[in-house]
Formats: sequence, structure tokens, C-alpha cells
Amino acid sequence: MLREYCPSCQMLQNMNMSCFESIENEKEDCKVKVTVKNYQCAICHSFVKSEETKEPAK
Ligand SMILES: [Zn+2]
Repeated sequence: MLREYCPSCQMLQNMNMSCFESIENEKEDCKVKVTVKNYQCAICHSFVKSEETKEPAK
């Protein structure tokens, strides 16, 4: 379980992670797969951070 500092609780908490994937056209004939991970505090459910990663789509 991932733990991050929650500004709302003002302490380290377990995070709930939700993941979204989408395919985007970066430029013509160049598709990238974008994965967004959102981290929410498991205790107070406030949004803590999100991470976005991009990789070439096949
Ligand atoms: Zn919290």
C-alpha cells in the first residue's frame, strides 16, 4: 500500500489509487498512451496528487 503525506490530515496516510488510460495524438501519426494515476487519501478522501506517464502507443 502506498503511503503519502496528506495535507488535509497533516500526516502520512494510505492512498487510494485510481488509474485512467487514454490514447492521444501527440502529433500526426504519433500516438501516445497516457496513463494518469490519481492518489486520494484513504481516510479523508481528499485529492493528494496525480502522476501522468506517457509512452508510445503501438
Ligand atoms: Zn487525509
